[in-house]
Amino acid sequence: MAQSRKGMPIHWQIMIGILLGIGFGFYLNQTGLSSWAAFVEPLGQLFLKLLKMIIMPLVAASVFLAVAEIGSIEKLGKLGGRTFLYYVGTTLVAACLGLFLVNLIQPGVGVDLAMSQTPDFVLSSGATQKGFWEGMLYIFLSMVPSNPFAAFSEGKVLQIIVFMLFLGVLVSFVGQSAKPIVSFARGINDLMFKATDIIMKIAPIGVFGLLVGVVAHLGLDPLLNLGKYMLTVLLGLAIHGMITLPILLYVFGKRNPLEFAKDMMPALSTAFSISSSAATLPITMECVIDRAKIKKEAAEFILPLGATVNMDGTALLEAVAAVFIAQAYGIDLSLGAQVVVIVTATLASIGAAAIPSAGFITLAIVLSALGLPLEGLGLLLAVDRVLDMCRTAVNVWGDSVGTAIVSRYVKL
Ligand code: ASP
Repeated sequence: MAQSRKGMPIHWQIMIGILLGIGFGFYLNQTGLSSWAAFVEPLGQLFLKLLKMIIMPLVAASVFLAVAEIGSIEKLGKLGGRTFLYYVGTTLVAACLGLFLVNLIQPGVGVDLAMSQTPDFVLSSGATQKGFWEGMLYIFLSMVPSNPFAAFSEGKVLQIIVFMLFLGVLVSFVGQSAKPIVSFARGINDLMFKATDIIMKIAPIGVFGLLVGVVAHLGLDPLLNLGKYMLTVLLGLAIHGMITLPILLYVFGKRNPLEFAKDMMPALSTAFSISSSAATLPITMECVIDRAKIKKEAAEFILPLGATVNMDGTALLEAVAAVFIAQAYGIDLSLGAQVVVIVTATLASIGAAAIPSAGFITLAIVLSALGLPLEGLGLLLAVDRVLDMCRTAVNVWGDSVGTAIVSRYVKL
């Protein structure tokens, strides 16, 4: 466990790193010295690179092992079915909450989007098809790799999960000759867990460096202009993260939400600092297995899937953002269109890669499905850094709560 034997627990060290990073970054921002952030930013980049370095082998080995070692297709079906139910259910709840709040607060009314332009990375992503079905097809086809080695080298986590799930299922059909591959995967997995243990020790310094960089370069004007939009998203994230998920955890997971949140703190604060559920995954696994004592066999299956497909915060943001843009253009969305918002925001969050700003690319799918202009995305992108940090923390919190709940309902 990455908790110092003596001295301050790791979650407090990380919290202090975050607070100092925000404070120091803000000081540099306000005194016009933001270029000085370059002295500490490499600490954050090193931390991020180390996490990214282990993510692909860790995901590949754990998903493969989880499926191969469960052995029975029937058990796997139960685990998969319950995981799916929890993930889709909570994401739908988050999208509905976003839709409710954006209709209540109406942050888009009176906002001028005339100067806003579609960001280049959204245009070049290919996610801008017109229509609902084309958008959905894009999401599902992009989950399947045509070349697993390319998926590996390009860091396409969801494609690797699909490939490894497939291989893991095949182990029970192949039998004896697949055994060496299973022990090889076990070795890789153990190595990656040890690596996470070590990387987590530098997390407090890493998050400090990352946050100094983010806050020092933050332009405060867009934050003020889009205050109501940000407030709507943040309120939704707070309700989902601090009320809905803790209630589910308490009722179905039979765990004390405060204790569990304390166990998950290193993962949540890392997610907040690096805006990527995938890069946070090694730490999330360490927290769930070592600190919260959830069964490894369950966590190895549920968490990698969750990190890549379960994004409650992203679904909530996409619902708010889509209706915000409609409001700004003075377009009244019918009841049917609001249902399309919920369905597409949920599916688009599933299709979003677990990396910074990915929710923005799939937001283009939601807008296309509703026939809304994509130009509004440019304005929203200006404030997305902060929202991405918060929604990624909620995404990881949702995965962790899901692991605690689902693992109770499946005997492995
Ligand atoms: N950054 C988010 C995550 O990794 C995805 C997104 O909403 O952009 O969970």
